[in-house]
Amino acid sequence: MKKKWIAIVALIVVAAFLIMAVLPMATNMSASAANDISSKKNQLSSLASQKSKIQSEINAIKNDKSNEMAYKDKLEQDIDLTEQEIKTLNALISDYETQITEKQAEIDELQIKLDNQIAQFKTRVRVMYEDGESSYLEVLLESTSYFAFLTRMEFVTSIMERDNRLIDDMKATSAQLKAAKEELETSLQETESAKAQIVEKQRELEQRSAESQAIIDKLTNDEAYLKEQYSIAEKEANQVQAEIDRILAQQKKTQAAKEYVGGVFGWPLPGHSTISSSFGMRFHPTLKVYKLHTGVDISAPRGTKIVAANSGTVITSTMNGAYGNYVVIDHGGGRTTLYAHMSSRSVSVGQTVSKGQQIGLVGSTGYATGNHLHFEVRINGSLVNPMSYFK
Ligand SMILES: [Zn+2]
Repeated sequence: MKKKWIAIVALIVVAAFLIMAVLPMATNMSASAANDISSKKNQLSSLASQKSKIQSEINAIKNDKSNEMAYKDKLEQDIDLTEQEIKTLNALISDYETQITEKQAEIDELQIKLDNQIAQFKTRVRVMYEDGESSYLEVLLESTSYFAFLTRMEFVTSIMERDNRLIDDMKATSAQLKAAKEELETSLQETESAKAQIVEKQRELEQRSAESQAIIDKLTNDEAYLKEQYSIAEKEANQVQAEIDRILAQQKKTQAAKEYVGGVFGWPLPGHSTISSSFGMRFHPTLKVYKLHTGVDISAPRGTKIVAANSGTVITSTMNGAYGNYVVIDHGGGRTTLYAHMSSRSVSVGQTVSKGQQIGLVGSTGYATGNHLHFEVRINGSLVNPMSYFK
């Protein structure tokens, strides 16, 4: 696609240089100049359509780019949200970790107490048995101390029972602390897996955002490339227009230098004199605006012969959107006549015609609502009312 334009642009550049190279020869011949202008006008219209094609591609790219940018903005907002979620989850995780550490510290502290308690208990048991044995011997040896011995035994037993309860309580508390710690650890794991999911989501969003940015970058490059192509086509069109202006100025000089062939104009449509629209401002029936009507419209059926209003040289014999098939004759002295909307033309550029010679047939080509001849007269390039030139 792009290569195709480059080829077209290159061809136009080469063609423009070739035309510029042969131009000095062409300027001496008004027919060649007219051909030149017509080919340059073709170049201009091809450049204009190229430009409008490039412009519509630029517009499409701008549209795509703005859609992509809106999408990327949305992604960035989502990324910000995940960022906040991650922060919240991190705070929660650190909170759980603190609580777990605290619980562990409590468990450790309790464990130390429990170990002490157990150690004390073991010592008491040992002491009691050692004491108990010796006391027992003592009791056996000295029965007077028997009551003292029993009292002592009861005392020791009650201490042991109290120790047992204490140890059991401590073990229960430790179990509770461990359960609480496990619960915290479960919560921590859940929070960490939730965080992992959000982190993964964020990673995906960031990836999509990077892809979107790559698309935006590509569209930006394409846009810049097309703008460059547009400005190349525009520069080209300006050069071609400048050439046309130069040739026209040269032609005008040549025409003005040529003397007028003389005499009054003859009626271009013998046998038909109905003027359906005269020269001047009028409401254009097709375009629906007030416009200068640049000539006179003479009604006649399709195929009626159109003749040259005076002798001269054909400087244009071509077709365009507005005039349809049309012919321009240079009569010298800066005077030209134009015949438009023809169904067919019978003269070519450079041809010499005499007054009353057939140059084409009535039709309705170009912007025409029916069969008629649109006839114009120009004096040194300015439009005048043709009706003043028949008397
Ligand atoms: Zn007209």
